[in-house]
Amino acid sequence: MPLISLRDVTKSYPPSSRGGAVVHAVQGLNLDIEAGDIYGIIGYSGAGKSTLVRLINALEDATSGSILVDGDEVTRMKESELRRLRLGIGMIFQQFNLFNSKTVAGNVAYPLEVAKTPRADIAPRVAELLDFVGLSDKARNYPEQLSGGQKQRVGIARALATSPRILLADEATSALDPETTHEVLELLKRVNTEFGVTIVVITHEMDVIQTLATKVAVMDGGRIVEQGDVFDVFSKP
Ligand code: ADP
Ligand code: ADP
Repeated sequence: MPLISLRDVTKSYPPSSRGGAVVHAVQGLNLDIEAGDIYGIIGYSGAGKSTLVRLINALEDATSGSILVDGDEVTRMKESELRRLRLGIGMIFQQFNLFNSKTVAGNVAYPLEVAKTPRADIAPRVAELLDFVGLSDKARNYPEQLSGGQKQRVGIARALATSPRILLADEATSALDPETTHEVLELLKRVNTEFGVTIVVITHEMDVIQTLATKVAVMDGGRIVEQGDVFDVFSKP
């Protein structure tokens, strides 16, 4: 059974109060992501990639279709089940979305505090995560004192804090230079191989998919227009 499975999923937005047409942000999506995959979703701006991510972690309700995560129907979940679902899904973002008023340690500790992790367990877990991303010496620093690559490493440590099975990376390297991008992609590979975390990589950059992903879906106009092994999809004439 796939870890994430979408069947004929559509998300439509009604016309705005100023008029216009219904927007079909995604349409008729069928997608199976297996546990352990690094699955790339590539497409231009407006293709529907972010909508797909928000559907998977149930920040949006699908207009129609079925979304299964670990066999559970997301579209029918109650609030308590949704909280559990989201604890099992880590997210990292283009602009990192760190709390500027919290230290590096405070940022990484935050999801553990939200999940009501016993106080005594938080510091050792934070130390372990900072060690994994190579930022042990920055624990008491604030985000503004870090480089972009370091900020994203904090983002990754925070996303992994509650030991999720799934990591959603939404344009996670789009604000980084090529060398830093490479470092972050290498770290994401380690997240996959060392912890078995299934990674969904949203990007408009072909290089990111070719470096990191094993499978890819190409989105255009809210639809998946091609999907399969990265090698097959990108080597076609
Ligand atoms: P991408 O992440 O690939 O850039 P999005 O998923 O953000 O694409 O957007 C897909 C389409 O849905 C776009 O046409 C966008 O304008 C539209 N859209 C996204 N969110 C909303 C919303 N909340 N209300 C209306 N239209 C939206
Ligand atoms: P905030 O930035 O929210 O004020 P702190 O920086 O005081 O919070 O730290 C939040 C939590 O992170 C602490 O409760 C502690 O468990 C953990 N923490 C703080 N410093 C370290 C550190 N050097 N190594 C590991 N964990 C730490």
